[in-house]
Amino acid sequence: MRIIAIEEHFITPLYREKVGANEYRNFYLSSRSQVMGHDIMEQNLDLGAKRLAHMDAHGVDMQVLSFGSPGPQGFGADVAVPMARDANDRLSQAIQKHPARFAGFAALPTADPKAAVDELERCVTQLGFKGAMLHSHQQGEFLDAKKYWPIWERAEKLGVPVYLHPALPHPQVVKAYFDGYEELARAPWGFAVDTSCHFLRLLFSGLFDAYPKLKIILGHLGEGLPFAMHRLNDHSLHAAKRRGLKKQPIEYLRENLLVTTSGNWFEPAFVCTLLALGADNILFAIDWPYESNQTGMEFFRKLSLSDADKEKIAHRNAERLLRL
Ligand code: ZN
Repeated sequence: MRIIAIEEHFITPLYREKVGANEYRNFYLSSRSQVMGHDIMEQNLDLGAKRLAHMDAHGVDMQVLSFGSPGPQGFGADVAVPMARDANDRLSQAIQKHPARFAGFAALPTADPKAAVDELERCVTQLGFKGAMLHSHQQGEFLDAKKYWPIWERAEKLGVPVYLHPALPHPQVVKAYFDGYEELARAPWGFAVDTSCHFLRLLFSGLFDAYPKLKIILGHLGEGLPFAMHRLNDHSLHAAKRRGLKKQPIEYLRENLLVTTSGNWFEPAFVCTLLALGADNILFAIDWPYESNQTGMEFFRKLSLSDADKEKIAHRNAERLLRL
């Protein structure tokens, strides 16, 4: 069965040079590398033989690659614009070398929304990328703000999805909720809080009424939203109407959202997601190199699913959505 994994990351030398290291981040990367059995930074920087060997060892046929979080979105426009362009050019070269193994999501410099729109257009129409990945907020500003809507508008027009990926939560949330508990602010809990909330801000802003064909992808089995869908809808129906939304919140979740399996290797959560959203809306992803290809593939192979649903999640949905 063809396996396409769609939340697989890389970083660039420029990013490594500019990103602010801190004690907790360093601790996380070194301890997580020990658990994974590979050096996360080293694997992040490789877009060739080493990455392919790790894919081959566990049966991953194709990676849809994206810049690691937060990428250019952690910077102002002076750094972000050249950083995104450099990353997208490097990714394009890797895809040209291995067109059957790699595809790409564009990195966008949201610090300059106009430049982000232009870069999205360039990446899709000239480099053949399959969409974009956005790493949550732009230095504390969520992308439901109207100045960012041209990015969403262009994605819909180009017919490509946007993957809304976690980043460290909004600085005020980090301070209020995670001060003294920094280990919870990232992948264990904070990422899901920030990304699910960001998606809901987009939904309640009326974004999907303005761009009804827009598709947003969330990783990690939907960042908790499939579990919360009923209660969310039940308690916000009237608020949604008062805002002038055309549909019920749950309808946007079913029509405009797709989710991936990245880094959430827990069958009860998968079953909940499957029942809530259906097999047409779930795509396979691992989250390399922050997750292990072996763990992801073993989890997927053992899932109790019909062959037809397995084919959809492994590759058919990605082939349809990303035109692979
Ligand atoms: Zn990721």
